[in-house]
Amino acid sequence: MPSPMIYQDLTTAALLGHAAQYHSETEIVSVSTGGEKERSCWGEVASRAQLLASALASLGLPPGARCATLAWNNRRHLEIYFAVASGGWVTHTVNPRLSVDHLRYILNDAADEVLFFDQTFLPLVAQLLPQLPTVKHVVLMESRSEAALSQLPSLLFYDDLLQQGMADYRWPQLNELTPASLCYTSGTTGRPKGVLNTHRSLVLHALSGNQPDAAGISAKDSLLPVVPMFHVNAWGTPFIAAMVGARLVLPGPHLDGDSLLQLLAAEKVTVGFGVPVIWAGLLAAMRRTEVRLPEFKRALVGGSALPPSMAEAFQRDYGIALTHAWGMTETSPIGTINTPLSKHDALPAQEQQKQRAGQGRPIFGIELQVVDVDGEPLPRDGQSQGYLQVRGHWVVEQYYGQDASALTAAGWFDTGDIGTLDANGYLVISDRAKDIIKSGGEWISTVELENIAIAHPGVRSAAAIAARHPRWDERPVLLCVRAEGGEVEETDLLSWFEKRVPKWQIPDRVIFVDALPVSATGKVLKNQLRQAYGEILMLSLIHISEPTRQAEIS
Ligand code: AMP
Repeated sequence: MPSPMIYQDLTTAALLGHAAQYHSETEIVSVSTGGEKERSCWGEVASRAQLLASALASLGLPPGARCATLAWNNRRHLEIYFAVASGGWVTHTVNPRLSVDHLRYILNDAADEVLFFDQTFLPLVAQLLPQLPTVKHVVLMESRSEAALSQLPSLLFYDDLLQQGMADYRWPQLNELTPASLCYTSGTTGRPKGVLNTHRSLVLHALSGNQPDAAGISAKDSLLPVVPMFHVNAWGTPFIAAMVGARLVLPGPHLDGDSLLQLLAAEKVTVGFGVPVIWAGLLAAMRRTEVRLPEFKRALVGGSALPPSMAEAFQRDYGIALTHAWGMTETSPIGTINTPLSKHDALPAQEQQKQRAGQGRPIFGIELQVVDVDGEPLPRDGQSQGYLQVRGHWVVEQYYGQDASALTAAGWFDTGDIGTLDANGYLVISDRAKDIIKSGGEWISTVELENIAIAHPGVRSAAAIAARHPRWDERPVLLCVRAEGGEVEETDLLSWFEKRVPKWQIPDRVIFVDALPVSATGKVLKNQLRQAYGEILMLSLIHISEPTRQAEIS
């Protein structure tokens, strides 16, 4: 049907073109793998992306070819994002923290033809390459290096490719349904699965995810994505930043609290995106030093539950607002963001805090429902807990390379999360379905137990798991890491819980450990903890030494 309005495909080239035309001089700060800072700008990123695309075209890459990246958040990675997608190929961001087995599986499943990588991963690439039959071109994201060549003689160099590129290269006209980027799920249970984003889904995600009541990034912001560009497109930050012409600060490989604190201060960053464990590191660093961040006003936090006590500490002690968001690889990832409605401003402070603790409400383009075990929708009353389902413009329909639909018969994606929704769509996640504790027919939220534990000043991090129990099927066991100098004991924590949850939800045991096992995307590996501690209540009469158990999971 002829359209009464101009029809233009929504593409990454359009985002980059906008940034290059109207925000050409806006700075892109990038920390290189070696730790040096490089300064460029949107205009340069756009020109280099065109040079790279032209060089890739002359390598003879067919349309739709997958180009993998094993890289930190840096300037070249940003250029690859735009060059590959806008050139009609697919940027396949790969998480280098995955096991070698998973990496091999993912790269072969995607049948990548090009592999870009940062210097850090040279040994990994040298190890993997003989088992990657589809990879034709391996590109080190650096200038030419004889030392690297001596390790991998077939190497190409990013900067050489740019020199071979043609400045007058024109982006192909792409249909907005063309695939643009590919990211695999973490695969903590089973094989990782690929989620293929289209140009349209990326642009719509950026448009909606950046509304004032959502991420709300403006041209005046300096945005630091701590969330890696190898995991769900750094929550869309490259595309959002290009769309609004924001200044980007790309942190490279050093993401510990002290390095981040220095970078945030030196670059006068105004807003950051990252998982809770990153902000826990920053908080600890701020408490140790005198460095303050007057420009750093807020951060978007998701990936796992944001402990309310951490958000309170940032706000109270440093005037930094942490905004809680929820999403997953299958939702590109932004699904909900916790920004208040006018009516919430009138609530007492404690109620407002409670409101802010949840995962927030859906952005436009995302619909949510919670259903019971039979798939029947539950009331949106903030009470009825069920299985969370989602649908929308940037939600997966089919995993990469699979024929079957990933959706229910009714067209919803089952998230694997459990939670409640209220009448305004505010979501509170209580758990992953596989993590929730089923005690005597009642559900106990591990997220809630962890939030309570972390609010204790003597605790740095905590994970609650279901341990098998002879009478109640499952009971909560809490694994805790003490805060620096914290002297808290099991009895202290159990009495801390007494005032905060009904008696039947108090953990049966609190066990202190040196560290919690964490996945490649910053989530606690509860399956490992369950393996090590899941039988502890059955075996409580047999004495098992804690060091033995800790050795088992390390
Ligand atoms: P991934 O696809 O690796 O990003 O993981 C997605 C999963 O992370 C979701 O299904 C949730 O279980 C979890 N998740 C993401 N954001 C949050 C959040 N704000 N609170 C609790 N869980 C979260």
